[in-house]
Amino acid sequence: MIKSDTLYNFIEDLFPKCRSITGKNTLETLEYIKKIVPINIKSVETGTKVFDWEVPEEWNISDAYISNSNGDKIIDFKNNNLHVLNYSQPVDTKISFKELKKHLYYISEFPDWIPYRTSYYNKKWGFCLSYNQYKKMEKNGDDYIYNVKIDSSLKNGNLNYGEFLIKGKSSEEILFSTYICHPSMCNDNLTGVSVTTYLAKYLQKINTQYSYRFLFIPETIGSITWLSLNRDKLDNIKGGIVNTCMGDNGKIQYKKSRIGNSLIDRIVSKVLKDTKNNSNVFNYDNLQDYKIREFAPVGSDERQYCSQGINLPVGCLTRTPYGEFDEYHTSADNLKFISKEHLFDSYKFLKKCIFYLENNKICRNLYTMCELNLGKRGLYTQVGGVAGLKGNEFNPLIFKWILNYSDGKTDLLTISDKSNLDFLDIVNAYKMLLEKKLINVVGDKTNATN
Ligand code: ZN
Repeated sequence: MIKSDTLYNFIEDLFPKCRSITGKNTLETLEYIKKIVPINIKSVETGTKVFDWEVPEEWNISDAYISNSNGDKIIDFKNNNLHVLNYSQPVDTKISFKELKKHLYYISEFPDWIPYRTSYYNKKWGFCLSYNQYKKMEKNGDDYIYNVKIDSSLKNGNLNYGEFLIKGKSSEEILFSTYICHPSMCNDNLTGVSVTTYLAKYLQKINTQYSYRFLFIPETIGSITWLSLNRDKLDNIKGGIVNTCMGDNGKIQYKKSRIGNSLIDRIVSKVLKDTKNNSNVFNYDNLQDYKIREFAPVGSDERQYCSQGINLPVGCLTRTPYGEFDEYHTSADNLKFISKEHLFDSYKFLKKCIFYLENNKICRNLYTMCELNLGKRGLYTQVGGVAGLKGNEFNPLIFKWILNYSDGKTDLLTISDKSNLDFLDIVNAYKMLLEKKLINVVGDKTNATN
């Protein structure tokens, strides 16, 4: 049984690692995931051409510090791995503060926080520190000499990613993608990695209509690499979600795919809407409101999945989106910034999306002429007892909606949208109509609209 503790403990375990788009710590993160779900760990060599890009040299780091003339380490990578500009070249030198300043990154707005900065494609070295640490160094003056050491390496090696396919009855696939390249930060994006891992574990145990593909990749270069090497698989992808920033106290938000009205866009929008309308049933107290955004070619890996020539129906699910919370890309995005409850809520939300996907059937009314007599078939008296209907409210309307639109073309999602009835209620009611042999299921081609 997956609990909120399970999701949070995963993050606690992986938090200390200095991940990047390549390197040992990222590989170890994948190996950790592999103990929970049997992902395949793939390796792509440095120099491999992937569309307009190239797999970079592999970066590894063992130590980094700035020390003063007494030999005291005043900035130490071992205290927090964000202190190093991620992908820094090695350096070992004595340097004046005047020169060192050019390699220092801080945020004056939040003087206690260390920023997270990267330089993957421009060869640089640097340190990130709090503004308070910076000010202390500044007091010693421009001529003060510091010892600077970054014990890192950039060599030919591999870009690693994890992939896991759960086969359903159909070869049509739903893609869940998340990025594993960020060092010690939580909301961005160990929350996405944790939720995606346990979603895979959950799906492994149930029989599904769709096949589900999971990708644990370094952001941007990882999705570009996967897309470039798997062009033959793209046609099967009928929908997908990039999972990120899933543990803060913001409300769940969805950024639509570039296509905008694809099945996954409709599904997630409907789950959000039903959740809002029915928060007591779903027990999502903090989901009183919701927000759906249009696609924009900025953000995370959805950029690549929705890029020209690819244009897959892949959206992005977050709580507060990347870049929109103060703690984003800083040391304040830590274990205290996220909560078990919000993390678990995001996981349950995705499970709900899967339930909607899997139950979105197209039916045909077996009585082809005029409205059925529901009372004659006992459907007026039974309605009140149907699980999922609100209280014991008498609502035969639900059967009328389903029977009318069971035309062999319209899916249950559309009926739920048109009627403004909760999808769960629609599913419970259509199952009753199936049992009574009043309708049949004509297909699992669940991307149809009316
Ligand atoms: Zn990020």
